[in-house]
Amino acid sequence: MEKNTSVPEDLTARLLLENKAWSEGILSQSPEFFHNLAKEQHPKFLWIGCSDSRVPAETVVNAKPGEIFVHRNIANQVITTDFNCLSVLQYAVAVLKVEHIIVCGHYGCGGIQAALSCENSGLMIANKWLLHIKDIYRLHQEELESLPSDQRNDRMIEFNVIEQVNNLAHTSMIQTEWRERNGPTLHGWVYGLENGLLKEIITIDQHSPMDRIYRFIN
Ligand SMILES: [Zn+2]
Repeated sequence: MEKNTSVPEDLTARLLLENKAWSEGILSQSPEFFHNLAKEQHPKFLWIGCSDSRVPAETVVNAKPGEIFVHRNIANQVITTDFNCLSVLQYAVAVLKVEHIIVCGHYGCGGIQAALSCENSGLMIANKWLLHIKDIYRLHQEELESLPSDQRNDRMIEFNVIEQVNNLAHTSMIQTEWRERNGPTLHGWVYGLENGLLKEIITIDQHSPMDRIYRFIN
């Protein structure tokens, strides 16, 4: 491959070396691992998480390749006009038939912090993405502003996860699955950067109450 001398080699070379060692390590324990996994995937989980490098889905739950179908974006949002997230969701529920969908936020989320601040005019695209979070703030403004400032961001992060789980429940894709099979169950979790632990915030399934205006007919 042609070398681009403007790219520092050492950082990416380290990743390639680590990859080789990782692959060899797995093969030494399980010689057929990649061969078997290459045939098909049957993940039971869809993970919708934040893009933050400190919250890698498989790592924090000690999962192996093939166990989790993953979608990540800034501030783990489920926006019902985002075809990227929706196409991942459709494939996960309609084809892979995942049993659980986890929306995972994290305390100390830079996306939430940015959404609760004045907009940076140099980040026009990111501002549009984060606008939805400002709307969630407005929904819970009274409670959030009654909290001490050091607790406000954490609570907002939890409200965001709850909202995104509800957004999933409001899609026709999820409601169709709920009618046809016993799942998937929707979970909202928050990860603590300070302790590496996940906290359950909300769980919704087909028996959970839902406002009539969000229900699809048939
Ligand atoms: Zn984040």
